[in-house]
Amino acid sequence: MTSWADAIYLVLDSASLFVAIVVGANIGSFLNVCIYRLPLKKSIVWPSSRCPHCNRRLRWFENVPIAGYLWLRGRCRTCRGPISIQYPIVETLTAVMFGLAFWYYGPTLLLLSRLLFGCALIVLFSIDLEHHLLPNSITLPGIVVGFAFSLVTGLGWFDSLVGIVLGGGVLFATAEAYYRVRHEEGLGMGDVKMLAMVGAFLGWKLALLTLMLASISGSIIGLLFIVTKRGDMKYALPFGTFLAIGAAAAASIGPGLVSWYLGLLQ
Ligand SMILES: [Zn+2]
Repeated sequence: MTSWADAIYLVLDSASLFVAIVVGANIGSFLNVCIYRLPLKKSIVWPSSRCPHCNRRLRWFENVPIAGYLWLRGRCRTCRGPISIQYPIVETLTAVMFGLAFWYYGPTLLLLSRLLFGCALIVLFSIDLEHHLLPNSITLPGIVVGFAFSLVTGLGWFDSLVGIVLGGGVLFATAEAYYRVRHEEGLGMGDVKMLAMVGAFLGWKLALLTLMLASISGSIIGLLFIVTKRGDMKYALPFGTFLAIGAAAAASIGPGLVSWYLGLLQ
């Protein structure tokens, strides 16, 4: 009896994991639409996807995540214009994230919170990388949604609120200080709102960890740019991309890292 029950559970588990990955790939497809259209201030729900080169409306099978790109070998069916590699990368990344998060958190509200947060990070990372821009249409609702989830996911409203104020505040103060010393903008208000969003979702400790990880990785990449003489710090990647990487790391390994660090202090 038990082995039958075990077998059924295993099948159900694998099936739901598979569904999570497929849903993730399709959400990734939607994130691509957001990444492409939000900086252009176009609607993300209408019209349906078109080839950016010949403006032909895409058929459903060309829109199938990952497989569509592979089948078309990265080129438009009619005009042979190249399709950005960003599409399958974002779809794969989102699918993997959905699979891992579902496996780790199970069907909980925390899973939903982490997935929404992860999707926001993927979109912010990609748009900042290409346009040096962190749209308010992601960061501001992100702060509200992150705070709302803190009420039901065990983080607690206080931790989330301090995360918003401290996360945004620390970066705002840094941006102000940088501007007064160098008389040029080093950090934008987009970065301030993005770290406030991270604080809303993860709480103040992980928001500070995010800032630390982002600064360290940003400095390393910046130094590499200088050493390899590809230009100075100004041409290094925008800070929002590092915040996204730092936040993803903080969300996944952060809780363990923080308790390890606090253990060292005792
Ligand atoms: Zn085309």
